[in-house]
Amino acid sequence: MNILILGGGGREHALAWAISQNPVCDELFAAPGNAGMAEVAQCIALDPCDAADVVAFCDAESIDLVVIGPEAPLAAGVSDRLREAGILTFGPSQAAAQLEVSKTFTKEVCDAANVPTAAWAHFDALEPAKAYVTEKGAPIVVKADGLAAGKGVTVAMNVDEAHAALEDMFGGAYGAAGAEVVIEEFMTGEEASLFVLTDGEAILPLASAQDHKRAYDGDQGPNTGGMGAYSPAPVMTDAVMSRAIEEIIAPTLAELRRRGTPYQGVLYAGLMIENGRGRLVEYNARFGDPEAQVLAMRLGAQFLDAIIAVARGEVADMRLNWAPDHAITVVMAAKGYPGSYAKGAPIGGLAALEGDPMVKVFHAGTATHDGQIVSNGGRVLNVTARGNTLAEARTRAYAAVGQINWDGAMFRTDIGWRAL
Ligand code: AMP
Repeated sequence: MNILILGGGGREHALAWAISQNPVCDELFAAPGNAGMAEVAQCIALDPCDAADVVAFCDAESIDLVVIGPEAPLAAGVSDRLREAGILTFGPSQAAAQLEVSKTFTKEVCDAANVPTAAWAHFDALEPAKAYVTEKGAPIVVKADGLAAGKGVTVAMNVDEAHAALEDMFGGAYGAAGAEVVIEEFMTGEEASLFVLTDGEAILPLASAQDHKRAYDGDQGPNTGGMGAYSPAPVMTDAVMSRAIEEIIAPTLAELRRRGTPYQGVLYAGLMIENGRGRLVEYNARFGDPEAQVLAMRLGAQFLDAIIAVARGEVADMRLNWAPDHAITVVMAAKGYPGSYAKGAPIGGLAALEGDPMVKVFHAGTATHDGQIVSNGGRVLNVTARGNTLAEARTRAYAAVGQINWDGAMFRTDIGWRAL
C-alpha cells in the first residue's frame, strides 16, 4: 500500500515509525511531516486541511490509504472528500468529528444517549451566562464551544473567576470558538484517557495510556498539549474500562449511527473516574499526543493492521497483541512553552540514541538547517523508552534525555509519577 499521513507532530512521527515497519507499507508520505519523519517517510509541503490538494496528491501518487493525525483536517472535512474520491481513509467524517469540534454537540449526544457526564447549559450571550454562574455557584467549569487548541476551558474555583472567563470568551479571546459557551458542573475524581478504535459498529479498546497536561513538575503550571505519557496506566482498570465502554462509548456510537453519521476512526474519551465509574469529560476525534507515542512503542507494526481494519470496517475481526511491557514518553519542549519561546536552536546527540531498540526519539517541532536538526516549535522531541517495568522505562527515558544536547530545552522530571 502507498500511504499518506496527514500531520507533522510527535503523534504522526510515532504513527509513521510504526506503519513503516509493516511489510504492507510500500511508499510512505507525510504532509507536512517533520525532520524525524523524513527518516521513514517522504515529507511533502502540502496543507493537510486543503482537501482538494490532498485528493489531487493521492491521485498523482496512487495513494491507497490516508491516515489523518490531527483534528484540523477532520474539522475541515478532508476525510469526507477522500472517501468520496474512493480513497481508504482513517479518521471520522466531518459530521462525526463534531464530537471534538463542538462541546454543545457532544453534550446533546450525551443527553440523547444517556451517557454519564457533567450537568450543563449552553449560552450564546454574556449576561444570561453570568447569571447562570451566579445561581449555580462555584466551583464551576466554563468552556468555549469550539476548537481552542486545548485552551478554551476554565475550571473556576470562584464565581468571579468564572465571570472573568465568560467575559474573555464573549470578548473574543478564542475567536469564533468562544461565541458559544458551555457551562458545566465541576466533577471530582481522577482523570484518565480511554482510546478505542471503531468502524462505527465494532469497538476495539486500545491499551491504557495517561498523559500529563500541566507544564511543570507536580502537575503545576499552565495546561499544555501534553508533557509526557505512559502506558499501561493503572488507573484504567479492566473494570473501569469495560463499564466506560458499556455506559459511554457504545451508547455514543449508537446515537451517531441513529443520526446517520456513524463514527469511524479512533475515539478518545477523557474520563473522570470516581468510585470505579467513569463520567465523560470530553471527546477527541484523534489519538492523543503524546499518548500515541507510547501506544505505538508497544504496538509496533500492528498499528497499521489496526488502522486498515478501521478504514475497511473490519474491526470485529481484529485482535491486537500488546507487548507485555511498559512505555513512557518525556516531552522536551522549548523553554517558555506554552508561552513564547525561541526557535532554531541546534539539537545534538540524537544519532547516538539511534541504535538502541528500547529507545526512540519521536520528533515534533523540528526542522533541518544545513544538515543540523534545530528546534522549530513549542513541543520539540518525544523521548520514548520501553522497559519491563514503568520504573525501568522511565530510567531509560531520562538517561536518553540526558544525552541530548540542546540548550534551551525544558521537560518535566516526574513523568509517570502517579503510577509509580
Ligand atoms: P477539556 O478540554 O474539556 O478536556 O477540559 C480540559 C481539562 O479541564 C480537563 O482535562 C479537566 O482537567 C478539566 N475539566 C473539564 N471539564 C471538567 C468538569 N466538568 N469538571 C472538572 N474538571 C473539568
